[in-house]
Amino acid sequence: MKKFVKLAALAAAAVMGASSLAGCGSDDTLVMGTNAAFPPFEYTTTNGLVDEFDGIDVAIAKKIAESMGKQLTIEDMEFDGLVASVSTGKVDMAVAGMTVTPERLENVDFSDPYYVATQVMVVAADDDTITKAEDLKNGKKVGVVLGYTGDTIVTETLQIPEENIVRANRGIDVVQDVKNGKLDAVVLDSATGKALAENNGLKVVEDPEVFESEEYAIAVQKGNTELLDQINEVLSEMTANGEIEALAEKYDGAAAE
Ligand code: GLN
Repeated sequence: MKKFVKLAALAAAAVMGASSLAGCGSDDTLVMGTNAAFPPFEYTTTNGLVDEFDGIDVAIAKKIAESMGKQLTIEDMEFDGLVASVSTGKVDMAVAGMTVTPERLENVDFSDPYYVATQVMVVAADDDTITKAEDLKNGKKVGVVLGYTGDTIVTETLQIPEENIVRANRGIDVVQDVKNGKLDAVVLDSATGKALAENNGLKVVEDPEVFESEEYAIAVQKGNTELLDQINEVLSEMTANGEIEALAEKYDGAAAE
């Protein structure tokens, strides 16, 4: 009997094909890697004693899992480790408000984009010295999140000197530093920057000439076309029927602590 079970399991694995062998989820789970400190896309809410994940990306990932008849499992980790976790198969996909960049494309494949964002500056409500990105070069102390596109822009595009950059693992940590006067500005993605600014009595300054638009997409292991096709199908359905837009509205400014 035991042997039969084993053989049956092997046969099932063979039927599941390459993608389930390459991925880390079992046959009935789909593992999403994320950094749940990025409202309104992913964050934790405390309902009673149990922390729960919520946000636009979590809702999208649930739909993807559902479409495959799988249970969604969420691995919360530092943003900087996500690409490696996808490329080594530790997680099946990264759904993390992740911008498609040429560097990341060297290590993972991306789905079709599902959201367009840009970087913004979060500054004190009464600050009138920062009205454009160039102003950050006037000796301002700038916070970013390690490995985010905002980090690249501040470091490489604006070339802010290293001694004036503070890198944190979560947006809220550097935003708190603007609140308590330790930093002059934080460069962060638009929706998250807006949510964190609103909840902390700060304001957002935009500069579309310097901060170009960025596309968020879902990352999968290189060559995992089976999962990628499935994701794209769900995304195109959710875009066409207005579900993604509805999610963006629903979560606007959500849980930005
Ligand atoms: N969009 C930014 C990036 O990809 C930040 C993403 C995030 O913090 N989750 O770098």
